[in-house]
Amino acid sequence: MTHQSLHATDIASPKIAIIGGGLTGLFTATLLERAFTQNQTQEQNRSHNQDKPSSPHITVFEKSRSVGRLATRYRTDSHTGKNWQWAFGAQFFTAKTNSFQQFITPWLDTGLLQQWRAQVIDLTPATATETSDATQSSDRQKKEQWNTTQARYISTPKMTSWGRTLAEELTHTTIKFKTRVAPLAEYNHHLADNVDKKTELFDEDGASLGHFDWVICTAPNGQAIELMADSGFGEQTKITEAQMLACYTLMLGWDDITQLPETLNNLSNPSISQWDVAYLNESILDRIFIEHQKPAHAELLPSVTIHARNDWSEAHVDDDIESIQAQLLQAAQQALNWNNANTPSQIDCHRWRYAATLVEHKNKDNNSTNNQKSGILVDKQRQWIVSGDWCAQGNIESCYQMAKQTIEVLNKAR
Ligand SMILES: Cc1cc2nc3c(=O)[nH]c(=O)nc-3n(C[C@H](O)[C@H](O)[C@H](O)COP(=O)(O)OP(=O)(O)OC[C@H]3O[C@@H](n4cnc5c(N)ncnc54)[C@H](O)[C@@H]3O)c2cc1C
Repeated sequence: MTHQSLHATDIASPKIAIIGGGLTGLFTATLLERAFTQNQTQEQNRSHNQDKPSSPHITVFEKSRSVGRLATRYRTDSHTGKNWQWAFGAQFFTAKTNSFQQFITPWLDTGLLQQWRAQVIDLTPATATETSDATQSSDRQKKEQWNTTQARYISTPKMTSWGRTLAEELTHTTIKFKTRVAPLAEYNHHLADNVDKKTELFDEDGASLGHFDWVICTAPNGQAIELMADSGFGEQTKITEAQMLACYTLMLGWDDITQLPETLNNLSNPSISQWDVAYLNESILDRIFIEHQKPAHAELLPSVTIHARNDWSEAHVDDDIESIQAQLLQAAQQALNWNNANTPSQIDCHRWRYAATLVEHKNKDNNSTNNQKSGILVDKQRQWIVSGDWCAQGNIESCYQMAKQTIEVLNKAR
C-alpha cells in the first residue's frame, strides 16, 4: 500500500501521530478533530449517509508529564497554606489575527483565559556603585498599559491551565505522556527508502509506538533536528536554519506584601502608582513580571518572575546554574533595590535551552537577514510534517498559525 493509494478507511480515519504535547501539538489535535468533524458532516449531508462518521485516530506523544513551554511552578507556605506561583515559561500571549481571536473566544467566555491590562514601565537599575547608597533607586518611567495597543492574554488560575483544558477537551486523541519518540531513523535503518509503508514510530527503548499515516513533529527545533536526522526527511536542511536562543528565569517570593522592596510595592514613586511589568535597560535582565497582580492571581503570596535577556542566556547556556542564579540575583537586587530587611525568602532559577526563536537566512550576498520565517516543513512523500512555534515568530500565536497550516496540508491530501 503506498501513501498515494491508501484504502478508503484510511482516508476516512487516518492514524496521525503528533510528537510533542505543547501548544502546537494540542492546537493541531484540536483543529484536526474540528476539521474531520466538519468534513464528515458535509460528506454525510451530501451523500445522505446516516452512518456514524468515522473519526481520525490521533496520538500525541509527549516526553514530559506536562504541556511544553507553558510552565507553572508553585510552592506552598506551610504556615498560611497559600501559594507562591511563577509562570516561568510564557507569561502571556497576543491574538493579532481574527482567526486566533475567534479560536480563543470560548475560553475567554469561560474566564479560563483573561485579558491582562498590565501597567508597563521602563526600568533602569541604579548602577552597582549607586546601590551601595541605600537612597538610590532604579529609574522607572511609565511606558504603556497593555490594552491600548494590543491585548495580552493569560491563562488562569495557572499558565498551564489552558494546555490541560485543551488536552481534556480532545475526544479523538490519546495523549501519551512520559513517552519520548526515538529519532525516526534509529530503529528503522531502511526508512529513507521505505516510502510505500506507513511510518512506524518507536520509543527510546526500541518499543513500537504503532504505524501512522501522518507524523507531525512539534518539538523545538534543536530536538526536531535530532528526531529527523538520517531519516531522509526532505526538508532537513531547513530545520537547521532556525536557531533557538536560551532564557534563564529567576523566580522570587516574599512572605508578605509588607516585606516587598519599595520598587515593587510602588510606594516610593506616586507618579508610578502601580506597575505589573517592567522592561529593563542596561541589565542582563530583560523583563520583570509581578505574578500576584495578574487577574485572578490575588490569592498568591508575593511572587515575581524575571526573564534574563536571551543573548546573555545563550552566551551562558552551559554555565553552572548556581553561578547563574547568583548573577541574576545580583542584577535583580540592583533593579528592585532590596536590602537585608526585604530579601526574598523564595529563590529559584530555571534554564530554558530552547526559549526564543531567531531565524537567519542568507541573502544573495551571503549576509544574514533575520525573520524570514518559512512556515511548517512538509515531506509529502513520507507524509511527515515538521512544525512548532519556531517555524514562525516563536510565540503562542505562531503555534496556532502552524497548526492551521498543518490542517490545510492534511485537508488537501484527502
Ligand atoms: C522563558 C520563555 C518565555 C516566553 N514568553 C512568551 C510570551 O511572553 N508570549 C508568547 O506568546 N510566547 C512566549 N514564549 C514562547 C511560548 O512558550 C512558545 O511559543 C510555545 O509554548 C511553544 O509551544 P510548542 O508546542 O511549539 O513547543 P513546546 O512547548 O516546546 O512543545 C514541544 C514539546 O515537544 C516535546 N518533545 C520534544 N521532543 C520529543 C520527543 N522526542 N518525544 C516526545 N515529545 C517530545 C517537548 O517535551 C515539548 O513539550 C516563551 C517561552 C519561554 C521559554
